[in-house]
Amino acid sequence: MERKEFRELISVEDAKKLIEQIKVQPETITLAIEKAVGQIIADDIPSGVDVPAFNRSIKDGYAIRAKETYQASEPEPRKLRCIGSIPAGCADKFFVDEEEVIEISTGAPIPDGADAVIMVENTKQTEDSVLIYQAVHIGENIMRAGSDIMKGERVLRKNTRISSREIGVLASIGMNEVPVKRLLVGIISTGTELIKPGEALELCKIYDANSYAIAAAIEECGGTPRIYGIVHDDEQLMEEALEKAIEECDIVLTSGSTSAGAGDIMYKIIEQKGETLTHGIAIKPGKPVVIGMIKNVPTIGLPGNPTSALSIFNVFVAPIIYNSLGIKPSFKTKLTAVMGTGIRSGGREELFPVGVVRGKVYPADKTSGAITTLSDADGTIEIRAHTEYIEAGSEVVVSMFGNVRSPDIMLVGGQCPGIDLLEDMTGLVFRTLNMGSSAGFTAISSGTTDIACVNMVDAEGNYNSSTISKMNLENIALVKGYRRELGLIFAPAKHVYGLEEISKLKLINRNRGSGTRAILERELGTLAEAKGITKSELIKGIEGYNSGSKTHRSVCDAVKSGKADIGFGIRVAAEEAGLEFIPVTEDEFDFVIQKDLLEIKEIQIFLSALRSEEFSKRLPPGMNTYEMTGKVISFF
Ligand code: AMP
Ligand code: MG
Repeated sequence: MERKEFRELISVEDAKKLIEQIKVQPETITLAIEKAVGQIIADDIPSGVDVPAFNRSIKDGYAIRAKETYQASEPEPRKLRCIGSIPAGCADKFFVDEEEVIEISTGAPIPDGADAVIMVENTKQTEDSVLIYQAVHIGENIMRAGSDIMKGERVLRKNTRISSREIGVLASIGMNEVPVKRLLVGIISTGTELIKPGEALELCKIYDANSYAIAAAIEECGGTPRIYGIVHDDEQLMEEALEKAIEECDIVLTSGSTSAGAGDIMYKIIEQKGETLTHGIAIKPGKPVVIGMIKNVPTIGLPGNPTSALSIFNVFVAPIIYNSLGIKPSFKTKLTAVMGTGIRSGGREELFPVGVVRGKVYPADKTSGAITTLSDADGTIEIRAHTEYIEAGSEVVVSMFGNVRSPDIMLVGGQCPGIDLLEDMTGLVFRTLNMGSSAGFTAISSGTTDIACVNMVDAEGNYNSSTISKMNLENIALVKGYRRELGLIFAPAKHVYGLEEISKLKLINRNRGSGTRAILERELGTLAEAKGITKSELIKGIEGYNSGSKTHRSVCDAVKSGKADIGFGIRVAAEEAGLEFIPVTEDEFDFVIQKDLLEIKEIQIFLSALRSEEFSKRLPPGMNTYEMTGKVISFF
């Protein structure tokens, strides 16, 4: 471990230069066209046939000699003899002479003698003859052999990514297989704490996200992933897994276990068997990024945290795959946008996770900087070491996480199923950060959200307006939402009669900053008064008062699992969890919206859904709209 201190990290620029030089030779394999979507074509594809292979009719009508029609008109139709009919796929020989026509279907071969097709709409059939009402010219409604694709013509180019269109082309020239490039990229996820998704989550374990996220990212780049699964933090096992992967793959990636010394293990194996290219990159979160070459197989160690792993993959691994395949990304991997808020940086080079909402970039690191899931980030921006502050409004380039659809509206604050309903009804994509009402107010005041979802009560029982005044929030509108029944949540076996009993039971409280927690506190104040004690005396006697569950659902989970006896939250959460519910009070769940945004399309759609009858009808039990729903109260 000591050795680590002496290792020299290379700069981001040098790391990028190094990456540019790494190129591996993909293999060419033949794939059935049904399996080829997303793959990269390995060779130019010439057509072995004419498409179509014969002259064919493109309309239903009559095959005819054009000159027979030159005199035909609406008032004076030409009358010709119909001598037969040619359906599509018919290979029989026919001949059309002067004064004759043959009925023909779309796609059927043009008979000898004929040089045009007149559409059925411009004719009228009588017993054995046909009236022609319009003139046609030579070649009309005929598709000539080879007019679509000529034999020998290059129909698809090497290095094209195969989509439905390419598969259609291949099939129409009769190919059922296609040569594609195969660049096999192995992934080893390391960590004793990892469990395969789909299996039961054991205590203190987490699901392995990286194997699958990185595999998908490899596929998005046109590579072929091979997942080697989870390897525990054990030098021997890691070494074995690495050796196997290096034997089989063109590129090998590992993720995680940097603290357990995976970096060291890789470094050691690379030193022994190959060549070390870096001992790490001087970037957060890239320090553990070891890059080496073993038997001509680039071997790269990614960080464990999924957001970090994907960020580093995008910036340092994806280019190797694209270069090796000789292609460019098939979707926009970089987006130029402007900062929606200022961000301070730690004075070192950093890949900073961000969300992109309507072209504006926001920090996606919740508040702590510790992102562990990818659901709130759309990509990363690179912050230079000498940059101390990026101002709101400055242009930045975002490296996107895959082909993501970035959200239409950003909401921060309390969690509520009513918000999910609004998302379903509007058809918009919401980025919802469930962090409690206080965080909602903070975010709206710093301009980092479009909407704050809040239920913060004051001592008088007023919702949200006094917080707005206290915080001196300007240029915002308070849009009244709906009412929600709040009450005690407990298991059916427990016999709870009311709030008075809370001191006898173990409580799972909501997180600090949650409006629902503030409402409970207010109710407890009233109860204390009735009992003739102070609120803090009452609270002191409640076991678990200092706990902090982030959502209504997680409160129910704690009650259900027996970790707590009682919780406080909305009725629908209790009902969904099969728990008992006793109503205590009603809150007002409101939306604080940036005033400048009231007129934009997305917010208009949001507001009209909120005000709709459908919304009122579809709200779950215990939640109701009222006369104030959707009313706007402006603050300056
Ligand atoms: P490490 O680099 O091993 O210290 O990992 C950093 C963090 O990422 C730890 O919280 C790990 O539990 C987590 N982590 C590591 N590998 C994975 C993975 N494959 N999927 C999800 N999280 C991971
Ligand atoms: Mg680990």
